[in-house]
Amino acid sequence: VKAEIIAVGTELLLGQIVDTNSAYLARELAELGIDLYWVTHVGDNLDRLNEAISRALGRSDLVILSGGLGPTEDDLTRDAIARVLGESLYVDPELEAAQRAFWAARGLEMPPRNLTQAMLIPSARPIPNPIGTAPGWWVEKDGRIIVAMPGVPRELTRMWEHEVKPRLRSLTGGAVILSRTLKVIGRGESAVEEVIRPLVRSTNPTVATYAKPDGIHIRITAKAESPEAARALIDPVEAQLRALLGPDIYGADDDTLEGTILGLLRRLGWRLGLIELLTGGLLAAALSEPAEAQGAFAGALVLAGPAELTRLGFDPEVFREDGPGNLALKLAAAARAEFGAEVGLATVGEETLGGWGEPPGAAFVGLAVGGEAVYQRLVVPMSRPEVRRRAVLTAFHLLWRGLRGRAGSH
Ligand code: ATP
Repeated sequence: VKAEIIAVGTELLLGQIVDTNSAYLARELAELGIDLYWVTHVGDNLDRLNEAISRALGRSDLVILSGGLGPTEDDLTRDAIARVLGESLYVDPELEAAQRAFWAARGLEMPPRNLTQAMLIPSARPIPNPIGTAPGWWVEKDGRIIVAMPGVPRELTRMWEHEVKPRLRSLTGGAVILSRTLKVIGRGESAVEEVIRPLVRSTNPTVATYAKPDGIHIRITAKAESPEAARALIDPVEAQLRALLGPDIYGADDDTLEGTILGLLRRLGWRLGLIELLTGGLLAAALSEPAEAQGAFAGALVLAGPAELTRLGFDPEVFREDGPGNLALKLAAAARAEFGAEVGLATVGEETLGGWGEPPGAAFVGLAVGGEAVYQRLVVPMSRPEVRRRAVLTAFHLLWRGLRGRAGSH
């Protein structure tokens, strides 16, 4: 089944609202194993809506419309479907009675325009909408299905869940699409693609990479008759990917980098202390999430600059000769000592500690763990938020590598 979504509403084209309905429907269709090939946004204009529906019927088996079912003049979805199919609108007596009852129950007279919501065409069956006034339409004609639902997200999701999805499920014979995402850190997207190139050509499952703030995601997606069959397609590909990239894969699906790090700390029974001279508490915020930190996060000092460093007993001038890398190392050790923690981490940046002869956007992350101390230098010639974001990611990376080997042998 080839599906297509048409989201109707001038508000969408003006950027005044975000099309969450299509995003919701796209996820739902994938879960049903229905291929979605096109999503169209169209304004409240009859000609353009006609055009969008005609085009959709020419290339898709299932056309899902969102919006334009209200009672006002710019609600044109019913008119457009009727025109494209060459059918006439008529007032359905049962729907009319329901509309009138809705208003009567509120002690009001039905505005004449609301009669449009009681209209059907011969090919359309109404889809109940118990939480709004506009029923949806289920239209079957010439082997095509058109489903029209109200734009109000609450009404659309309810109608989909209770009425439309069950009918479509019986139509597709229960095929499913399942995905598994592997998350990689420490390699760029093109480097990852290079390694997994032979697998990217596969069609079922498909393998695709995405650059995300927490590293590179590799998504394996399989389509099959049942979840078990989909998993059987995914498993061998996942095994191949793990063989190729194993040491750089930190998690799968809902795993987060910070969650993985906190999990390792808990397994080791260790605590982490931080000194953040560059990252302004970003690391502390990410690593102190109470549910996951559970005693693994000891504390953080968030420092504004060299003056605060002096107060801590460090003389930045003394370190000027050793370079900022060494300062990062010393601060990592100090973070450990300050909190009586087994692991210390520190961030230092050109923006907070200039004058080292480092280029703009230079940053240093130091890690003290066991008897070892290491630091990593990065240069991010971009905006300050970006420098900090990359420094956080580098810190996570360093921590994860530092802890992983130790947790394994523990
Ligand atoms: P109703 O039949 O309940 O009057 P409708 O079918 O006429 O709704 P619209 O008038 O297009 O739908 O939209 C109603 C409201 O629903 C909009 O003001 C907007 O807030 C929301 N909405 C419409 N389309 C979308 C969409 N694609 N994604 C998210 N919200 C939407």
